[in-house]
Amino acid sequence: MERFSAVADDVFLLKVPFTGVWTGVVLVLGDDAPILVDSGGSAKTVDSTIVPALAEFDLTLADIGWVLATHIHGDHVGGIGRMRALAPSIKVAVLRDSLERMRDPLAYSREIRAKFPEHSAAPPSVLDGVDPDLLLEDGDMLGPLRTIHSPGHDTDACCFFDVRSGTLITGDSLQLNGTISQGCALLFDPSRYLPSLQRLISLPVQNIVCGHPYLPLGETAIGPEAAQQFLATCIGCYEHDRGFVAGMATAGITDPLTVAEALVEDIGGIAPAKMFLPMHTVAAYQEAAERECS
Ligand SMILES: [Zn+2]
Repeated sequence: MERFSAVADDVFLLKVPFTGVWTGVVLVLGDDAPILVDSGGSAKTVDSTIVPALAEFDLTLADIGWVLATHIHGDHVGGIGRMRALAPSIKVAVLRDSLERMRDPLAYSREIRAKFPEHSAAPPSVLDGVDPDLLLEDGDMLGPLRTIHSPGHDTDACCFFDVRSGTLITGDSLQLNGTISQGCALLFDPSRYLPSLQRLISLPVQNIVCGHPYLPLGETAIGPEAAQQFLATCIGCYEHDRGFVAGMATAGITDPLTVAEALVEDIGGIAPAKMFLPMHTVAAYQEAAERECS
């Protein structure tokens, strides 16, 4: 059975199974009601993984005050509807930019798959939306957590910074070279990724906990040196990928599939059977470069 493991004082990570990798759910304890950051990918994993793991802390979902979402991708928000159904007192908070996507995450999942339909995996069959109780702005505090809008992975990606322990809960905001199932970093908004990383580097980050195991450093960085190294490595991966896509364009190679396959190979990744995520990254870099030129 998967259990919550300590990342820092009062911050715990649970690895919830999700096709090939896992998705992190972070439990934050403190003076107020416990907070969960993200919810796993489905109703089923709420029942099979999250509820039993909470029971180890003598907690039920009814004890949870808030569920927060780091961004509105199915593997992070797919359990929120089930949590609310089981415990109607749970309140849901998302970034204001995430409101429409949170109301209908399946529509957004389909939109992501519509750009490269023949290279995309099927969307989940069920992905329940909820109406959030609170819309967060950058800088807002919820208990000990400060909201930090950190676009790059997606336009509405955010981190939650535990100001007590200096622990940065990043969801998918720090991509390194992506997960083993992605093939490379997934950036829908690459032009805002570097400013996000530079801003995170300026914080007194003591620890990092991510929403997946990211190549090549994994899911956590413990201690300030490891945290700075993690953030610096993200910048290196970004600069590599941006330069690689630009270099291919200079050589006249712009087909997203061709460039994506070459990029994944260049960083030593494993090309996924469905290439839509690397293709999104490539297309986003190409569109950002075009905007810079015009
Ligand atoms: Zn994501």
